[in-house]
Amino acid sequence: MATPETKGLPASCECGYIRLTTPPQYRGMAHCHCTTCQKQSGSAFGTSLYFASDEVFPLPKDVEEKLSVYTHLADSGNTMRCYFCPKCGVRMMHSALLPDGTLRPIMSFKAGTIDGELDWKALKARHIFTRSAKMPLAAEWECFEGYPPDMAQKPKGEDGGKEKEKGE
Ligand SMILES: [Zn+2]
Ligand SMILES: [Zn+2]
Repeated sequence: MATPETKGLPASCECGYIRLTTPPQYRGMAHCHCTTCQKQSGSAFGTSLYFASDEVFPLPKDVEEKLSVYTHLADSGNTMRCYFCPKCGVRMMHSALLPDGTLRPIMSFKAGTIDGELDWKALKARHIFTRSAKMPLAAEWECFEGYPPDMAQKPKGEDGGKEKEKGE
């Protein structure tokens, strides 16, 4: 049986042009209901699977050459890097440069791009930024209006400084 935790998980975009492999060890998952994730996903929320940045970057050269990057400066001072397929437009990953120019230690893969075995049920992902949720939230879900306390050290969100609305 495959052991994705030690081998890394294959990930791909919708059209298959972008194919890469995650690091072996993921650091949690969250369903983010912030307004940016709604726009970016064109859906009710975005699901992120987190990894240590230094295990992802630098990217393999062939992958880096194919990926397009949407970069913007967040109100927090972070420079967001949003990696997507130039052919089908699927968002693959997010990372951020901190104001001092260093890479933020945690980055995320958009979880729906993962092809490998990923036990979504066992991960029990939390729902974050539910104050802007568009959909009903089940009572048994672990929900946070903004960031959970253990994620709050993130400087005002991966996407921007609009902390009240926007999360990961
Ligand atoms: Zn594609
Ligand atoms: Zn979000």
